[in-house]
Amino acid sequence: MLIEFSPQIEDFKREVASTFSKLQRPEWLSLDLECPEYLALGRQMDQELIRRGWYVEHWPHDYGGGGTADSFMRHAVLREMEGYFRVPTFGGHGRYIVGPALIEFGTPEQKKRYLPPIARGETVICLGFTEPDAGSDLAAMQLKVVRDGDYFVANGSKLYITYGHYATSMLLAARTDNSGKRHDGVSLFLMDMKLPGITVSPLHCLTGHQVNEVHMDNVRIPADALLGEQGRGFYHMTVALNFERSGLDLPAKYMAQLEDVAEYARATGRWQRSAIREGIGRLAAILEAWRMICWRVVMLQVKGQVPSWEASMAQFYRKDFNPQFGRLMLEVMGPQALVERGEPRSTLSGRIEWYLRESFNNHGQGGRFVTRNVIGRRGLDLPRK
Ligand SMILES: Cc1cc2nc3c(=O)[nH]c(=O)nc-3n(C[C@H](O)[C@H](O)[C@H](O)COP(=O)(O)OP(=O)(O)OC[C@H]3O[C@@H](n4cnc5c(N)ncnc54)[C@H](O)[C@@H]3O)c2cc1C
Repeated sequence: MLIEFSPQIEDFKREVASTFSKLQRPEWLSLDLECPEYLALGRQMDQELIRRGWYVEHWPHDYGGGGTADSFMRHAVLREMEGYFRVPTFGGHGRYIVGPALIEFGTPEQKKRYLPPIARGETVICLGFTEPDAGSDLAAMQLKVVRDGDYFVANGSKLYITYGHYATSMLLAARTDNSGKRHDGVSLFLMDMKLPGITVSPLHCLTGHQVNEVHMDNVRIPADALLGEQGRGFYHMTVALNFERSGLDLPAKYMAQLEDVAEYARATGRWQRSAIREGIGRLAAILEAWRMICWRVVMLQVKGQVPSWEASMAQFYRKDFNPQFGRLMLEVMGPQALVERGEPRSTLSGRIEWYLRESFNNHGQGGRFVTRNVIGRRGLDLPRK
């Protein structure tokens, strides 16, 4: 597959790359992901993107975006460059998932209330889907929400919630009806995280990220927080997650990390070993193939089509690449790869040790076999059994 961009898009790519390389600071790569300084850098970069008119360029014109196929391509290029330069930004769920979902099925009041603050980078939205007994099988979710006059009352827990500890709102998927098919009876809410009865408890990941358990005890959610049709939440959720399924930032981010490893191999003479060169070259080829799949997803979106198994293929590449990258780092650096950030003998300021830990981060959006099942069923038309 050959991707050819118009001269305007090529110019934009150069502009973004040059902007990010000027703005890039060593702290983007050396700070702990949850420290206040890193969060501040993320907010600063969100504002920088807003100032340049890039933040929600993929939205329709009426809501502050560009509204053309070209602006969607520019957004995809931006996304790729954000990954390559490892730009810290925090508004992702708002600008990529919840904003487009509001535009698609929000009420005029909800659009007026939520879209401008998302576009100004003032809202941090977390996604409340997973539960202790509903991960890959999301339709098993049990968190119950019952109508009570002008409110819905929520009881139960959500698990592994990224951004839960500083989110202003949650896109909550909850069960409003238990009587029919499992996929029916789920509804979506845009819930204010300051409502009484919400408790956020930290869960620390190997990668240094914090995810959270969010517990709801008789939380009274105003009825106008219902997003879309009651009972159609599962289908709305699928549409919402499809808005940003290209994942273009990821192969770009890993390419930058692989370049770090190659640089280390050259600087230390390990590059002389053909097995090391072969390993780095093989992973670079996998990254390029992954990138092509991501662009294929973008091209479908540009044509107004909804990616399905194509997006799962992009996911699968990530899940396949991660452990291979972990192994390569150990081969190139040996035990040196385990020396942490802050230690005098750490490699590339401890970045390699962090990449190694991150290579275990493979469960988001369903595990490897779940992803394979989606590709098998939807892409290859294989029977469910
Ligand atoms: C870093 C991180 C951040 C996250 N952030 C969020 C968030 O912000 N919001 C949110 O709602 N969720 C979030 N999640 C949760 C994530 O979506 C779930 O971890 C994921 O859906 C898998 O669910 P699970 O962890 O319960 O694993 P399980 O579903 O229990 O799966 C465990 C293993 O069993 C395999 N498996 C399960 N079912 C099948 C099957 N039918 N066939 C074959 N194999 C199967 C899986 O592939 C996996 O390897 C996050 C997770 C992580 C790790």
